[in-house]
Amino acid sequence: MLKVLEIYKKSKFLRFGFLFVSCFLVIRSIQSLINKNKNKKKDNDKLNNDEPIDDIINKESIESSSSSSLNNSIDSSLDNSIDENNNKEKKNIDWFKLPSDIKVHVLSNQEECDLVLNEYYQSLLKKIENSKVKVDGADVLANTTESSLSSNDALLFPNCTKENNEGLDFIIGFDAEWSNQNQYQECEGYPHKVALIQLSSKTDVYLIQISQMPTIPQSLEQILVDPRLIKVGVAISQDAATIFSSFSIVTKGCVDLVPIGRLTNYQGNGLASLALNVLNANIDKNNLIRCSHWENKNLTSEQVMYAAIDAWIGREIFETMYYTYKSSKIDPNEPDLVFTLCRPFINTQFKVKVKSKSTNGASTSENGPRVKDSSIFRRMVPDNRVLYDNCLMYSPEDVLLCSISKKKVQWYVSRGLADIVSGDSEQIKIKLRFKPNGEGHSGDFYYLAHKENHCVVCGSTYKILRHSVVPHCYRQYLPEEIKSHSSHDVLLLCCDCHATMEKRSHIMRMMIAKQYGVPLENDHKVYITNSPLVKASKAALVLKKQIEGKNGKGQIPDSKLQEMKKEILDYLNKEEYTTEDLDSLVSTNPKQRNDQYVPHEKKVMEKVLELGEKGIFDFVRTWRKNFIETAQPKHLNPHWSIDKEILNDYKPKDQKVKQIKL
Ligand SMILES: [Zn+2]
Repeated sequence: MLKVLEIYKKSKFLRFGFLFVSCFLVIRSIQSLINKNKNKKKDNDKLNNDEPIDDIINKESIESSSSSSLNNSIDSSLDNSIDENNNKEKKNIDWFKLPSDIKVHVLSNQEECDLVLNEYYQSLLKKIENSKVKVDGADVLANTTESSLSSNDALLFPNCTKENNEGLDFIIGFDAEWSNQNQYQECEGYPHKVALIQLSSKTDVYLIQISQMPTIPQSLEQILVDPRLIKVGVAISQDAATIFSSFSIVTKGCVDLVPIGRLTNYQGNGLASLALNVLNANIDKNNLIRCSHWENKNLTSEQVMYAAIDAWIGREIFETMYYTYKSSKIDPNEPDLVFTLCRPFINTQFKVKVKSKSTNGASTSENGPRVKDSSIFRRMVPDNRVLYDNCLMYSPEDVLLCSISKKKVQWYVSRGLADIVSGDSEQIKIKLRFKPNGEGHSGDFYYLAHKENHCVVCGSTYKILRHSVVPHCYRQYLPEEIKSHSSHDVLLLCCDCHATMEKRSHIMRMMIAKQYGVPLENDHKVYITNSPLVKASKAALVLKKQIEGKNGKGQIPDSKLQEMKKEILDYLNKEEYTTEDLDSLVSTNPKQRNDQYVPHEKKVMEKVLELGEKGIFDFVRTWRKNFIETAQPKHLNPHWSIDKEILNDYKPKDQKVKQIKL
């Protein structure tokens, strides 16, 4: 008996032991889950900073063992016991250190910052100016006209020369830091106010403590908005969006290193993994520094090092990728390769595919037009198309009036309004039989110029389509008279360049939302669902099938049927219902378009139109400027201008021709 009791006690002990062990395991797994969530939360801040989670946990535990400030001692002791060996390995890692000859400028005073950055910016502007002058002193741009110089030139990439290190001098390492727990909770969608902005050249790193300054220094703004200066970093579109939310400044020329890495065969979705794979450098992505108070006036030396390395190494990574790209080229001496490499990625939103939902549930992409993949266009658009016929129309006095399509030639000739004067396959020319009202596009170089049937961005003649500089979702609300005379703002692009442009609209939409005071999020839903109707409609379907004997063998309980009947009668507000009632309930769509819903684009355009012609011009000009800055077209007609007037007094269509004919 005693023995039995003993065994029982033992077994009880064993059971306790077992319980204890399982409790321990459960706690352990919960803790690791919490840890993962913590990291995920941080990852949401930096969308594609997706280093392996285990890696981050390990680094966290290294920190926790060395820091007494962490209060989750259970967590750290657990992690330590398990990751001890791992830690030893980690401790032996030779962490990357910033080379001693790199100058780090920590700037917390606005005036000082402005001075230092202005010097940097002026040196870059000088290099841009110099790039335009050929070795023999002849101006590279001497052939282009004055008008194109005035508007487009300040937005287009400079030439890459030896003096500017093949253009690498125009590459700026870029990063921004902000803290999780701070007082800035005001900006929609992006609750963090930027505390620090880091810029880095090959030799100098600028740490701009923006949280210590009343406003953004002018020279910093100039650098950020200058599209000729390429800013490189990881998850850079997130940084740009946060800077926009905080300061209403659109950072131009942003290029994410991850897609550049994919193009040049380097793996890695975060800065740490890229640094390792590209430069064989281990950078310490220590969470304690990463999440520390960046808005503090006095940054610790660890913070300064961390921030400086982030910006500097991003630029170094780019440089190595560039040389890899260059060596892969058949002609490595092809001009402007730095920009050829960057062009497709400028200001495009790039996200590493993660199965995560937006934290506030309202993903911004849902509110915008769906971005199509270029493969969709590739399927839709025929291979080789001629979209410009370049037929010329002359007045009876032999004044060149405009360039028109073959279709229009046919229209004039078949009505006896014009004669074909030269019909060779190269170029059709017609002469009007009547004196037209006005001068047409005479004197307008853009409209008269021969237009190539190729992509104005990359020059491809394959699968080209008409691309509207003002996206269709806004353009559709423009007055007909402007739309029908805006061939200047409809350019030929290949499928790929067109799809890339779509990826760039997000920050423009954010800017427009702010500028016109029309949020992207809508107060009203597109559709209203009539819930009682949904219920009644479902019930009606079941009852209809019941009558027709289509409900199968499974009998629906009487009580349930009565309940359904009641739902239908309640909805119809009747004593009895007919089979017609059921039919009508089944066929009625419970989802109705909401009259209250006005799309963001329509609201914006209402405001734009209220401002009259000037308002429309400003709106169109914003999109033209965005096109030049982000697409950096290499084959655009030099007469195309962001300042081109939006209304042309020449109306070659019906009304004027009719007047003359009569
Ligand atoms: Zn193209």
